[in-house]
Amino acid sequence: MGEKIVVKVGTSTLTYENGILNLRRMERLCKVLCDLQNSGNKILLVTSGAIGVGMGKLSLPSRPKETKKLQALAAVGQCELMFMYDKFFGEYNHTVAQLLLTKHVMETQHKQDNVNNTIETLFEMNILPIVNENDTVAIDEIPGECFGDNDMLSAMVASLIRADRLVILSDIDGLYDKNPKEFSDAKLINYIPRINEKIFEMAADGAGSNRGTGGMKTKLSAAMHATNAGIKCSIINGQKPEALYDLIEGKEIGTTFAPQHTNESTQKGDTNDNT
Ligand code: ADP
Repeated sequence: MGEKIVVKVGTSTLTYENGILNLRRMERLCKVLCDLQNSGNKILLVTSGAIGVGMGKLSLPSRPKETKKLQALAAVGQCELMFMYDKFFGEYNHTVAQLLLTKHVMETQHKQDNVNNTIETLFEMNILPIVNENDTVAIDEIPGECFGDNDMLSAMVASLIRADRLVILSDIDGLYDKNPKEFSDAKLINYIPRINEKIFEMAADGAGSNRGTGGMKTKLSAAMHATNAGIKCSIINGQKPEALYDLIEGKEIGTTFAPQHTNESTQKGDTNDNT
């Protein structure tokens, strides 16, 4: 029996510094996800990248600031992004489906059930759902109107579908005890039994690159949401998507956050709480 796995990939993993798609990496990621599906897992992909891809498609030299322009770009880019996913997954004979969600789906149990039923039906048909926020209607200037970032979207979707595992692919190996971009002696933490304030203090504010979005703090908030829903969560480097195989085989890759209220978190103990 395989696992139900949500994988989140960010813009900095999917694109080059100029904002244009990193085709080689995207192709490798799609191949790995196909293979994980072939071996019996149910995979759902949460993807960012629509604005970056839209910029590349329209050959824009810089990212616009106006919300309506960003939304227009996302609308162009989402099309191209799905076209590429369809092509790469299609190479391995896998079918994908696009789900554009807004935070409103979380408002009632009925709406959540509808989304969950759709995703479960796609899984039954062996189709790989690809989820993004519907940027055309989600306006981040209105508090509470949107998920905020795709890290949180992925955690919410993972809990909605009762996933076994959430894997966030980042531009870094995982959570370090301090920001490794600032401190050369920062150490990677492999296992976090429980996310507390001390853990949040390790993460610096803001994204690590011009294409990164939320930064490590938003990933920790997402990890907290997922683990509180009993879902194991890992942050690993998305540069080598093949690392997903190792992670799922149980090797110590990146940073793994223990699910709460489960046997596993008590088995492994909270003795490392000061990590
Ligand atoms: P992504 O685009 O992969 O979602 P982000 O830029 O949003 O990545 O977040 C990852 C970045 O968070 C890292 O590149 C790093 O610069 C920054 N960061 C801040 N504090 C930490 C920390 N303690 N451990 C790891 N990364 C950190």
